[in-house]
Amino acid sequence: MGGKYGPQGPIEDPWKPVDGYVSVCIICGWPLPKQLISGALRGEFIDHDERGQPEEIYVEVCSECKARAREFIQGGIPAAIRRLEVNRG
Ligand SMILES: [Zn+2]
Repeated sequence: MGGKYGPQGPIEDPWKPVDGYVSVCIICGWPLPKQLISGALRGEFIDHDERGQPEEIYVEVCSECKARAREFIQGGIPAAIRRLEVNRG
């Protein structure tokens, strides 16, 4: 029982598993089956543009995005500037 209703009737839960996919990598956007969930982020999401209240989040990531995020964290700002310069050519 339960579920949400909108003006057009019941609202489908966008996080209901579909065809073996149980999540979405929040960075690349690919659907994830349980065995490919490689990590998760839990905390507060603060939208500085909208200046809204912090929202609790729990999001999952694939192994490629997790590795890329770790690389970005380790390289810091100097590595980010190098990537920018390489992309600009
Ligand atoms: Zn990903």
